[in-house]
Amino acid sequence: MNIIDLHTHTQNSPDGSDTVEAMVEKAKTLGLSAYAITDHCEVNRFYPLEYYGDIQPKEYDTYDFEKDFYISMEENTAIKERLGNSLKFLCGIELGQAPYDYSIAEKVVSDKRLDFVIGSIHQIVGEDDFAFISYENADAIPQLLEKYYTEVLELCRWNKFDVLGHLTYPLRYIVGNSGIPVDMKPYEELIAESFKTLISNGKGIEINTSGLRQKYGKTFPDLSYLKLYKDLGGEILTVGSDAHCVTDLGKGVKEGSELALAAGFKRICYFEGRKPVFVNI
Ligand SMILES: [Zn+2]
Ligand SMILES: [Zn+2]
Repeated sequence: MNIIDLHTHTQNSPDGSDTVEAMVEKAKTLGLSAYAITDHCEVNRFYPLEYYGDIQPKEYDTYDFEKDFYISMEENTAIKERLGNSLKFLCGIELGQAPYDYSIAEKVVSDKRLDFVIGSIHQIVGEDDFAFISYENADAIPQLLEKYYTEVLELCRWNKFDVLGHLTYPLRYIVGNSGIPVDMKPYEELIAESFKTLISNGKGIEINTSGLRQKYGKTFPDLSYLKLYKDLGGEILTVGSDAHCVTDLGKGVKEGSELALAAGFKRICYFEGRKPVFVNI
């Protein structure tokens, strides 16, 4: 079985803990067919705090992702050169919140060193990251989710990334951590429309396996959406652990490939020079 891990973070992400070298060493020992480092680049906090004027920063928010981005590109390309053929290493980025400022997002994705861009939404415009929202007022959840799936569709229409990151991300916090059930019916049309947009644009989705090792217990998105994506004609599918440390690297990626098989896929892909390369599972 070909296993890949195309979604990982190093210490070049504010919430990542290990060096590029340490992550690469672990990737080698796992025998991955392809490995990507995709550190965070959050568009809504791209510049230093001062740039945003008179705002009250949240204690958990970090700024100046521009600086992290250029360090990441330098370190990733240096190690890629050193690795040669010993590991299929890919220089990626997880681009967060492109809808906040498409001109910044375009500047990031135009970097020619990038092999792979994951387009993610962690927070919708005007709200905190889903990780930091208190869900005590359960009545507010449907509106938050409606906005999230609407923004996901907007992101898909923007079309300048390679795969959509962890679709259904809010469920990690709402269903997983807070234990609040969610009726997904109101968002099915938006999700189907997002898939159709990705497919007609030659873009894809990822199976993000982080949920398997968290309270949520399922991938982002889960099998039902992988089947829907397949039924609508989707072919481009990557797998990633979303590891933020060496220990989590590769966790769940085999199960991710097995889910892809269960949904009817025979191949997964990695990206090189922003182009999909298909490999048999
Ligand atoms: Zn993410
Ligand atoms: Zn991530």
